[in-house]
Amino acid sequence: MKISINLKTGDVADSTPKDIIVGIDLGTTNSLVAYIVNEQPVTVKSKYGQRSLTPSVLHFNEDGSIVVGDKAKDYLVSHPERTIFSVKRLMGKSYADVSKLNSSIGYEIIDQDTESLVKIKVDNRFYTPTELSAEILKSLKSDAEHQLKTTISKAVITVPAYFNDAQRQATRDAGKLAGLDVLRIVNEPTAASLAYGLGLDKNEQYKVAVYDLGGGTFDISILQIEDGIFDVLSTHGDTFLGGDDFDRAIMAFWTEKHSISIEKMQEDPALNQALRLAAEKAKMVLSKENTFETNVEQYQLALDKATFENLIAPLIDKTIESCIQALKDSKLTTAEIDKVILVGGSTRVPLVKQRLAEFFDKTPDDSMNPDEVVALGAAIQADILAGNRKDILLLDVTPLSLGIETVGGLMDSIIARNSKVPHRAARQYTTSVDGQKNLRISVFQGERDLVVHNRKLGEFTLKNIPAMAAGIPKIEVAFILDADGILTVRAKELRSNVETSVEIKSTYGISEEEMALMLIDSIKNAEEDVKKRALLESINEANNVTLATDKFLIQNQAILTAEEIETATLLNAALKSSVKAGTKDDIEAAMKRLNDYSTPLAHKALDVNIGEALKGAKM
Ligand code: AMP
Repeated sequence: MKISINLKTGDVADSTPKDIIVGIDLGTTNSLVAYIVNEQPVTVKSKYGQRSLTPSVLHFNEDGSIVVGDKAKDYLVSHPERTIFSVKRLMGKSYADVSKLNSSIGYEIIDQDTESLVKIKVDNRFYTPTELSAEILKSLKSDAEHQLKTTISKAVITVPAYFNDAQRQATRDAGKLAGLDVLRIVNEPTAASLAYGLGLDKNEQYKVAVYDLGGGTFDISILQIEDGIFDVLSTHGDTFLGGDDFDRAIMAFWTEKHSISIEKMQEDPALNQALRLAAEKAKMVLSKENTFETNVEQYQLALDKATFENLIAPLIDKTIESCIQALKDSKLTTAEIDKVILVGGSTRVPLVKQRLAEFFDKTPDDSMNPDEVVALGAAIQADILAGNRKDILLLDVTPLSLGIETVGGLMDSIIARNSKVPHRAARQYTTSVDGQKNLRISVFQGERDLVVHNRKLGEFTLKNIPAMAAGIPKIEVAFILDADGILTVRAKELRSNVETSVEIKSTYGISEEEMALMLIDSIKNAEEDVKKRALLESINEANNVTLATDKFLIQNQAILTAEEIETATLLNAALKSSVKAGTKDDIEAAMKRLNDYSTPLAHKALDVNIGEALKGAKM
């Protein structure tokens, strides 16, 4: 099957040099925006403080309004259940992925006991991480508009190099929902390298280690930069290691020294918080001086640099272990690394720099502000995409997203707009009905969430899938876009190797005006589209849950009591009627009630069935 696509530039709307495209570092702890003035990247100051860093925290007021940043951070201790932090950790994740996180946060993550993506519950509303990230992005956008005195509608957003397709898509969607046309999702280490001027000259080649130690996460990425192309050779890290652990190590040292019991710390959140703040202060002071002293309540706290370094040495050792692993994966030696770049506030700690210098046998470059370097690099990438840097060639990209229709008429993008060509991407799907033999695959182009609003490029049917229960077949749909913009779509059932051979004959041409209109439409309708998508996704999930519950109740009649069957049937019926009449929040609430009730029943049934099987009676 072949479809011709008109590939021109990634930036389809008219972009005169005046058009400001911002670069956004959407971080786990802090976020910031940068743009270019007089050919230099600078950061945007937040409206409320003079800081460029906006804490990636949002708080829901009782009246449903939302505050973001420093103001929201104030509620972390007083209203943990309605103050959301670390949303980035939830992007594109299913509940199973984040269960480790659940114990350390004060807000409610919904467990539907399924593979579906997580939701966050505040009052009676359910939010996706994408919607929450969009609120942070809206606030950043508004700060930038305030400072630049113009509307901002285009952005480049950075993500960790290890983010998978779903996490990148969720970030892209968050941008769209915030009213931003996301021209590109850029890897954080790539942005940091750009900020250091690496890769701007196409004739230069570098191998770079980007060491990123933030508040709560650590990443090391090894990049190869050649012909203006940034290749991530390897990444390694620890998603739960950062400067916050340094603070905790100092707190533990003080509480032991002053015999402050764990019980006292638990009973006295104010003391806990004051000690945490003092520990962070000590850490920062000891980056420059040799001693630190302060008083918290009746305690005289002191720490010297040598003791501090002893406390954090094991943590830094862990990051060096990751560097060893990343180098091994990249098949490079330390001698082959041309440059070591520092990202993240915690790289200000002198011992971190010293250990890195020893390990790589070269002094790390710390000439830029490690908090800002990613956003500044994103601004440079944005400037390149705006066509403001004439010396840099824009690579060919696909102007609109390409994807297929999934259940409920939803568009599932497989190749995102602005992806470099050639490009290959694949995603796995399955069947929704027992014994399903055929799967129709409809290919669309465009940015809207519902396929009816996008352009259909063609469709074909994968036939003769061997009979299997719903959800068992593994159907890989691969999109291969070659350098000339020819798209080949292949569908293959991986268990049986059944592959499609049907061709789509549609030859495709679309004018720049039409493309620009489609993009504008997608931004204008983003909020409405996301709502529709969320409702359809809830309906799909609820339908799966009701079917599974019906099946479960029939199969386990002998194990369950009459009362259990009756209650579960009633809750299942309530879920079915909420699907017919309800809103997304009604469906989610009904689904939660059913899941809360039926999960213990499922465990009970499983125990009995395993017991029977062990006795050899039945399976
Ligand atoms: P980031 O996640 O990149 O914003 O990094 C935030 C982390 O950097 C927090 O743990 C801060 O306490 C830490 N940090 C910021 N400034 C310093 C400093 N001068 N010395 C040590 N750590 C710092």
